[in-house]
This record gives sequence, structure tokens and C-alpha cells, in this order.
Amino acid sequence: MQSFEIGTVTVTRIEETYEPNFEAAKFFADWNPAVVETHRDWMLPHHYDPASGMLKLSVHSWLIRIGTKTILIDTCVGNDKARAHRPMWHLLRTPWLERLAAAGVTPEQVDVVMCTHLHVDHIGWNTRLDNGRWVPTFPNAKYVFSREDYEHYLALDSDPKTGPVNGGSFRDSVLPVVEAGLAQMVSGPGSLDEYLSYAPAPGHTPGTIAIELQAKGARASFCGDILHHAIQVFHPQWNSFACADQALARQSRRKVLEHCAGSGALLMPAHFGAPFVCRVEAEGKGFRPRF
Ligand SMILES: [Zn+2]
Repeated sequence: MQSFEIGTVTVTRIEETYEPNFEAAKFFADWNPAVVETHRDWMLPHHYDPASGMLKLSVHSWLIRIGTKTILIDTCVGNDKARAHRPMWHLLRTPWLERLAAAGVTPEQVDVVMCTHLHVDHIGWNTRLDNGRWVPTFPNAKYVFSREDYEHYLALDSDPKTGPVNGGSFRDSVLPVVEAGLAQMVSGPGSLDEYLSYAPAPGHTPGTIAIELQAKGARASFCGDILHHAIQVFHPQWNSFACADQALARQSRRKVLEHCAGSGALLMPAHFGAPFVCRVEAEGKGFRPRF
């Protein structure tokens, strides 16, 4: 388990899976073999598996403890969920809850869940299976969702031509939380408390939010899928196959990287391989990660 100190605040990575999982050439339209040669020194073995040609994208949550308050950012894929569109995530069983317990946190103790966006691998543990029903995993938490993402996927999900959306995850991992009255929809920039703030960063999804932690002058930037892989620090123009709006996704990515490079904020993405976080340095017209 990896923990990071941001000023007076501890942030812990709660892993769900970390293995070669997406074919690099399909994930990034811009991928080519020369990339691996140029970046071999940092990319192998933690970020790319040359034997299979697959990216190693971690799926994890960030657990933040501020005094007595407990916050989770992104909730992975979850257990027992039918995901026919992604066989590796179909009816997944991982000890994610046990790992959360090992970090000293029970579901009842979680005060806030924040989803950077509403894709399948960021909302899964929002709910768990209980006697055949999906119920909120964190009964005492408020769940912060982007209103733009919620309304966008609600419309698609409600239309028989396009629903169920996101492999069924909107129905089993978002709607039960809303129906339980635990959702807090946010729109535009805002703050949760004196430490955590959020701002729209659309592109990957229409309502993606970037979350910023500030404590005693130290900063961390939770960017969700604004960046998936550390190669995008070098190549901010690279979008993944899952980015909805190509131009906006590039713009939001560059903005996060400029922010980290300019402020010294630790970049804490949702899927980077080990060591899972990095600083960002400006270099020429682009950037480089410092692990
Ligand atoms: Zn993701």
C-alpha cells in the first residue's frame, strides 16, 4: 500500500487491479513501436508489457484522510458487476474492501465519495450487491457527482437506442446512489472544504472534474482520466480511445499539466503505473514526468 503526505494530509492508494490490460496500439491512435524505444528507461516494466503489447494501467482509488474526515476519490470497477463489454472486468472479484480495511477504514467511516467522472472504472464500488439489489457501499457518505456527466449519461441511458450506457454501470453504480438520496450534484468550480476543491475539465467526458488538494502549501492534483498513462505527459495531444471530445480533452490535459508544472502539485492520476504519481516539469513545448 502506497501512502503520500501532502502537507498535513495523508493520501493512500487503494488498489483494485494492476496488470497489462489494454492493447497500447488500440488504446492510443498515436501509438507506435518507436515510442517504446524512446521511453524504455521509465516505461518498462511498470507502464508497458512488451511481451503482450499491452499498457499496464492500474485501477485504484485514492483515500484521503484529513483529521477525522475520510474521503474517497474514484471507486474502480467493483465486485460482481456484469460487464460484458470488458471481459477482464466482468463479474470481477477483488479484495478492494479488505484493502480499504487494511488502510484502517470501514465503509461506514467514509464521509465523502468523489467521482472524477462517471465511467465504469470510477464508480464501481459506489454500490455493492446485497440480496440481489445494488445498495450504496458507503451508507453515511455523500457522493459528489458532476451534474454534466450525470445528465449526459441519464439521457443516453433512458433512451432504448443508446441505453444501458457505460456497460450497465450507470444503472447499477450511479442510479441506486441517487435513489438513496446520497448524491450531491456539482457544476462549475467549487470546494468541498478548506482543503479540497474541484473544477470542470471536460473532454474525456462532458462533465469530468479535476480535484485539487491543498494543505500547508503542499498541493496534489487528482486528474482522473484527463491523463491515463504517463506517456501523455510527454505527448499531451494524445487522446485515448475513450475520450469523448478530442479538442477539449487535449485542452484540459494541457491545463492540468501546466498547473502541476507551475505550482509543483503532485499529479495523482487514476491509472498511472508504479510509482502511480509524479511531478511534472515543463520541457520545451511539452512536459516530462519526474517519478
Ligand atoms: Zn478510467
